[in-house]
Amino acid sequence: MNANFHTHTYRCKHATGNIKDYCLEARKQNVSTLGFSEHIPFKTEEMNIRYRRIAPHELPLYCQDIEDARNEFPDLTLYKGLELEYETEYFSSYYPELKEKLELDYMIGAVHYIYKSNGELLPFWDEKAIVDFNDYRRFMEGNIHFMETGLLLYLAHPDAFSRFYPYWTEEHAAVTRDVFACAEALKIPLELNANGWRKKDIVLPDGTTRKLYPWQPFWELATEYNIECVVGSDAHKPEDVWGNSPDIVAFAEKLGLPLVNDKLAAKIEASREKSGRK
Ligand SMILES: [Zn+2]
Ligand SMILES: [Zn+2]
Repeated sequence: MNANFHTHTYRCKHATGNIKDYCLEARKQNVSTLGFSEHIPFKTEEMNIRYRRIAPHELPLYCQDIEDARNEFPDLTLYKGLELEYETEYFSSYYPELKEKLELDYMIGAVHYIYKSNGELLPFWDEKAIVDFNDYRRFMEGNIHFMETGLLLYLAHPDAFSRFYPYWTEEHAAVTRDVFACAEALKIPLELNANGWRKKDIVLPDGTTRKLYPWQPFWELATEYNIECVVGSDAHKPEDVWGNSPDIVAFAEKLGLPLVNDKLAAKIEASREKSGRK
């Protein structure tokens, strides 16, 4: 079964395609289960403009589009979700309240920004986001605290930092082990993100190149733990609704990482039934 839970739409202002466009493409690419995970808006308009996020007033429209598509595409299983930002002050009320109000099926989360030691917030596509090991540690602590919130169906691209480092070191491994131990203890699946495979390769100091992420040494370390993984296409355009996922499935199989996309679909189904949304 092809099941993708990581999908964005034009409403976030840095992706293209509406819900229907993704559904049509899902049909074409045999994606039978499709979850939408639009980036959640920040609480301030200034942040939503600066980081290109859906406007809060559009959230009900986004949800309605998914409801409508359920009727129009009865052959697809569609889920309504959001992708959370690592904003600790949003954890206790803003996120849970939005989940309830919008009757979301699930939430995923990703650390997209690093709070520097001077309090400055930098997105991880800024080259100064991770310059030293304290920044790296902060990124990994973010991953851990995110899992501990209990809000996440899964944690998205925990290895998205890879562009800052040409080579994996023992220092990385030492800090990263805590992330895997946490995922194992809390049984939170970690995402192998296909969008990292589609991005431009990273050029190493010796002139060779590698895929940005999934980053192999990170996931080799993961195999030492009893963790579950999920493939997410992280589509920002309809054609990518399953984009590169077969490459990522092969990557996971090569390393022996268990993929639980099917299991997550079943989990969402069960929670929908429990809450009477089915
Ligand atoms: Zn995005
Ligand atoms: Zn995403």
